This record gives sequence, C-alpha cells and structure tokens, in this order.
Amino acid sequence: MIAQPKASHFINGTYVEDTAGDAIPVIFAATGEQLATVHAGTPAIVEQALAAAAEAQKEWAKWSPRDRGRVLTRAAQIIRDRNEELSQLETLDTGKPIQETRVADATSGADALEYFGGLAGTLTGEHIPLGEDWVYTVREPLGVCVGIGAWNYPTQIACWKAAPALACGNAMVFKPSETTPLCALKIAEILIEAGLPKGVFNVVQGMGATGAQLVSDPRVEKVSLTGSVPTGKKVYAAAAAEMKHVTMELGGKSPMIVFEDADIENAVGGAILGNFYSSGQICSNGTRVFVHSAIKDKFLKRLAERSAQAIIGDPREDATSIGPMVSETQMDIVLDYIAKGKSEGARLICGGERLDRDGFFIAPTVFADVTDDMTIAREEIFGPVMAVLDFDDEAEVIARANGTEFGLSAGVFTKDIQRAHRVIGQLQAGSCFINSYNDAPVEAPFGGVKASGVGRENSKQAIEHYSQMKSVYVRMGDVEAPF
Ligand code: NDP
Repeated sequence: MIAQPKASHFINGTYVEDTAGDAIPVIFAATGEQLATVHAGTPAIVEQALAAAAEAQKEWAKWSPRDRGRVLTRAAQIIRDRNEELSQLETLDTGKPIQETRVADATSGADALEYFGGLAGTLTGEHIPLGEDWVYTVREPLGVCVGIGAWNYPTQIACWKAAPALACGNAMVFKPSETTPLCALKIAEILIEAGLPKGVFNVVQGMGATGAQLVSDPRVEKVSLTGSVPTGKKVYAAAAAEMKHVTMELGGKSPMIVFEDADIENAVGGAILGNFYSSGQICSNGTRVFVHSAIKDKFLKRLAERSAQAIIGDPREDATSIGPMVSETQMDIVLDYIAKGKSEGARLICGGERLDRDGFFIAPTVFADVTDDMTIAREEIFGPVMAVLDFDDEAEVIARANGTEFGLSAGVFTKDIQRAHRVIGQLQAGSCFINSYNDAPVEAPFGGVKASGVGRENSKQAIEHYSQMKSVYVRMGDVEAPF
C-alpha cells in the first residue's frame, strides 16, 4: 500500500497505533486501489489524546505569544519546502488533480500558519480608564479544542483550525474525515519538527462515533466542525449540553447572479470555478447560477464550449483538470441528484453521467431551465452539477437567491458597481464575491449565516473564536460598602 502512514494516530508528539479500532481502508478515488489502512480511535486512544492535550496546553499557554507564533511560521516554511510531496499525498487522499493541490491545499495551510503565527504577538488586551480606577482585559486561551474535518480539503481544514487555536495558546485534538485520514498526520509531524511541544496538536482517526466521543468530553472547551448541516446540528447540540464554544463551517447552496451587463467570459469562468473545481466538492460553491434571460443563450453556449475543454483523468497527471469524486458513496449520491434533475424536467446541457473507466468519475454537468422548486436547486449536491436558473428582475432574483435555509456564499457578476454593492448588501450569506468566485484568502473571514454555520475561520475574526477575554477591575481607593 503506497501511502501507509507509520501508524493511525498522532498523539503526544509521536505516531500511535491501536489495531483494536475498526479498520478504515483508504481508497484512491481515481482507481479504487487501496492506499492504506488506518484504525478508528478506540476509547483508550481518545483518552490518550485528550489527556496529552490537556497536559500540554497548560505549558503551551505559558509560552510568550511571539514564541508560539515562531513555531507556526516555521511550520509554514517546512510545508512550503515540502509542497510537492504534500500535494501528491493530498491528491492520493482526495483524488483532486495535482494541478489544484499544488496551489490550493498545503499552500493554503501554510498561509494560515504564517498569518496566525504573525498575529500571535499582536494578541493583547486593553486598558480601560475609569478615573482613578481602571479595568484591564486579558486575552486567554480556551483550553483543549477539538477540530473535526470534512474530506474535501484535509490539509487545509487541519491548518485552518490548528493555526488560530495554537496561536491563542490552546491545544487541539483533530479528527479527520474517515474518507481522507492521511494529510492531517503529516501536519502533526511537521508541527513537531517546527518545535511545537508534544501533545499540543494531536490527530485521532475515526468515524462519527469517535467525533461524538471527543465532542462530549468535559475536558474539551471548544469544538470546530467542518461538515454537513445535519452533522453540524448534532455536534452543536452535543456541545451546547456542556456550554462549549463552537465554530460550525457547514454546507451551502449558494447563489451566483449574472446580470445582463456582465462580462460573459468572466461570469462563465466564475461559474466553472464555483462548480467544477475539486469536482464540485466545495462548500461555498455557487451551485445556483441565476442568469439574466437576455444573455442566457450566450452564457450557456460558452459554458458548454468551455466545459468540453475540461481534461478529465488521472489526477496525478499535470494536465488533468477534473478528477474523480472522493469516494464511491459520494459518486452515488451525486448520480442520484443528476437522475432527479433529469426526471424533474431540467434540461441537460452537458455531462450527466458516470464515466466509463475505473474510479469514481462524473463529467461536469450543467442543467438549464432549472426552477426553484426542483431538488437540484434546493439541496446541497457536493459534486460537479451546476443548476442554471433564469431571471429578469433584480428584486425578484434577490428574493429567490435568499429563499434557502443555507447562507454560506453568494456572488454577483455585473459591470454596474452600484448594483453590485446594492445586491450583495441584500444577499444573506457570509462570504461574498463581486465579479469573482470562491477566493478564500486567509486575511478574509470565512463562514456562513443561517444553517450554513456559526463563527468565522481565518482573519482576525478567528481569534475571537479561540480565545476569551477576562476583565479585571482595579480599585485604587477604598471600598465603599453599605454597611
Ligand atoms: P459530514 O458532516 O458527513 O462529516 C464531517 C465530519 O464530522 C467528519 O469527520 C465526520 O466523520 C464527523 N462526524 C459525523 N458525525 C459526527 C458526530 N455525530 N459527532 C462528531 N463528528 C461527527 O461531512 P462530509 O465529510 O461528508 O463533508 C461534506 C460536507 O462538509 C458538505 O456538507 C460541505 O458543505 C461541508 N463543508 C463545509 C465547509 C465550510 O467551511 N463551510 C468546507 C468543506 C465542507 P466521518 O467522516 O467519519 O463520518
């Protein structure tokens, strides 16, 4: 098995195995070949990880923030130096094309470690003068944090959670998705190489049950989940039972609105990026593409022409621009949605089927004449399936765009700058784009509203979700008590 890690878990600075846990086969989605086997964390493994994190956190919190930051920036540099190796592993773990993983995964993780490493030394409280007396505030870590990841961006998700958590002086136990267990182990290894004390960042494999055990442990102060809305509701409820802090990065069904004055090539490019990158397995994708009826035919024609240029194939090859779905299960879910699109009367423009080859490949699929009530316009598909809907009027399209339980992202394509800001201002979404789609720089807050989540990752905002303020009132005079 070509990607077998030294052991399944990484705890207290070293690889740890416990074969008593259920075996999890790691499958290369492009061929169906087994790459590795890991074992789900047993209760003993979970205990070991939480105990290590709780112990290590006490000392880590005493480090000066700048020293903590230096470890993170060192880790970022190691990741950049090893980008090729890490990108190849990400491609094996997820099936995403190497041309994507070289620029969007380890590098994005390094960005987060670099950014929060730099920010660490700036994390301060404030002095609040009250005449003779004053209050000062102290920014404190939360303690032990649990990170739980989805399978689409295993390296990035581990880093996006670890970087702000560690910068603030917390420790973390991270559970990757059972579908993509390999990449987070490498991040744990690199953090140790960069000088992180053992136990501050631990990785435990497992399915939902392992995640649930981590979330409900009383030693855990914070849970950050990237996953679907149904899982988010369960995890949020479990965390609420013990009043834990949460960040929920959940699913979406985001609108992308293309007005009649839009630059068509850019709008088509945005729709391709926002639907087919990573085979459409991106939470913030603009999967409801509302196109003004005046330009609909032109838009669909260029979309079909450009979609035909996709190079679908082995994700390890440089030229491949579309890889397989992450797993057979996910492929079946997506094929089921495609069947619903056809049976509910949407017009298939291109794609719409599984490719006749090994692995879990689906051709980029575009449906036109989609209406708001169709299943493919309402539910998150998480695959390369774009729904194109028509509209004529600005107020009408805003209402329809907002007519969903989700609120992760939204995009507008228009040359009219006033309209762009007016429309974005009315869209219910956390991460928005004007004449662009799916950019996620670490400097910008990322997260959703409504069912798409609570809290924000990245940017200075993430600090608020991994630390808490203590306020201290200081009296300089005598205490005046009533008796
Ligand atoms: P899931 O919700 O199925 O799983 C997410 C993680 O939660 C996995 O590690 C899973 O383990 C774990 N888990 C499942 N049940 C529980 C439980 N009861 N308690 C604790 N942990 C649990 O999501 P997917 O992995 O299928 O990822 C796809 C989803 O993630 C999509 O909805 C997508 O939109 C969303 N997502 C959101 C992002 C965002 O930033 N907003 C970014 C990327 C994806 P296991 O895998 O073993 O089941």
